[in-house]
Amino acid sequence: MSTVRLFFALWPSTRLAASLAGWAEQARPLTGGRAMRTETLHLTLAFLGPVDTALADELAAATPDRRLAPGDVAMERYGVFSRQRILWAGPADTPAGLQAAHDDLWQWLGGYGLAAPPQPFRPHVTLLRNIVHAHPPEETPAPLTWRYDRMVLVASESLTGGSRYRVVAQSRPRDP
Ligand code: ATP
Ligand code: MG
Repeated sequence: MSTVRLFFALWPSTRLAASLAGWAEQARPLTGGRAMRTETLHLTLAFLGPVDTALADELAAATPDRRLAPGDVAMERYGVFSRQRILWAGPADTPAGLQAAHDDLWQWLGGYGLAAPPQPFRPHVTLLRNIVHAHPPEETPAPLTWRYDRMVLVASESLTGGSRYRVVAQSRPRDP
């Protein structure tokens, strides 16, 4: 049976993505590593991994109606996942609204037989991979406020030389 690798994410505006790319640029002389392409920067809400294509189609069809309560998440600190050699940007603490969005999403996905990972949700945007110096820079750029009102469902396709993302569905913003 064929599968597709899926994840739900918040996708930044072009402007916010450009600011986050600036965070990556500021850190890179200190940490080393490889910057993610600006147009691929995102905050993963739920990584599903490989899913049967029939289920993937079902999830894509249902996603528009999974409306998110709009909220804010601050990009206010750098962090490092030293084992994965990743430098990230994210909030100091997980905002309650974002945690609720994550929990609701996994509760819904549970109905399809999908289970959340055991680790707690750590919202972050991966900025650099393969960092050499596994400590976040001491100086943090000015904080950014990310206002979100929707999530996207993304297929991650493995190609030689890395993965390519394809947005397959997005939730409708709530009516004002
Ligand atoms: P590649 O793995 O080919 O280098 P990638 O990491 O960009 O590419 P995916 O592995 O498909 O692509 O991951 C998509 C998103 O889900 C990324 O934000 C990644 O950090 C996140 N992710 C991947 N695996 C997990 C996991 N096991 N748990 C939580 N998040 C994950
Ligand atoms: Mg990966």
